Amino acid sequence: MESNKTKKAKVGKVLNNIRPQLLLSDLSHAVSLERLGPKLFERIHWRALTDEPKIAITFDDGPHATSTPPILELLQKFNVPATFFLVGKHLEKHPEIAREMVSVGHEIGNHTFSHSLLYASTKNRIRDEICRTDTLIRNIDGAEPKFFRPPAGFFTKQVLDIAEQLGYKTVVGDVYPRDPHLPGKEKIVDRVLKRTVAGSIIILHDGGNTQRVDRSQTLEALAEIIPRLKNKGFEFLTLSELLSN
Ligand SMILES: [Zn+2]
Repeated sequence: MESNKTKKAKVGKVLNNIRPQLLLSDLSHAVSLERLGPKLFERIHWRALTDEPKIAITFDDGPHATSTPPILELLQKFNVPATFFLVGKHLEKHPEIAREMVSVGHEIGNHTFSHSLLYASTKNRIRDEICRTDTLIRNIDGAEPKFFRPPAGFFTKQVLDIAEQLGYKTVVGDVYPRDPHLPGKEKIVDRVLKRTVAGSIIILHDGGNTQRVDRSQTLEALAEIIPRLKNKGFEFLTLSELLSN
């Protein structure tokens, strides 16, 4: 016979396992993803439709004073172009890093001004979040933002409508190794190598929105990911190039 204590512990364990799913289903209910999902997914890019081994590598949440420059250096070393989804409040502090990105051939995308999750925001707030960063990006010589990535990948019909009205295509990605959770270099490398296919859009992070940002694993993983994907025959393109076909 199980004691009440054991039973309670078991029930607690089951509840703990269920809770994250409940939260997710609450969330998807709140944004009506189950109803709107199929329609919305036609309006976002999560991978390019191609059979050719062409891919794009993208970075979110920068620019960051110390973690972005070594990533730029590494990309330069391998002669690989990337697309950086910048957060306006960080771009405001480090426009020189964004200028460097553009000058060496990287593309810049819009990742909102304050990295707030937009699914529960008002129309005005969504518009303001995108527009403030749009202006900051356009102040960088040669930068013409075309792509928008909603923070944490959360979007609603309203978010897509406003992004499109402002001239943006919304892009998420199909390869996300969850590098900000610091799973270890090996795991980041493995996840990317296993999941990357023709047309893939890889999501990594050069910056962050917390006080302490550690992208050392991303950097180490990148040094391995790029040559190994090149050896497999993949060609790295900017998002504009990858999605132009
Ligand atoms: Zn982000």
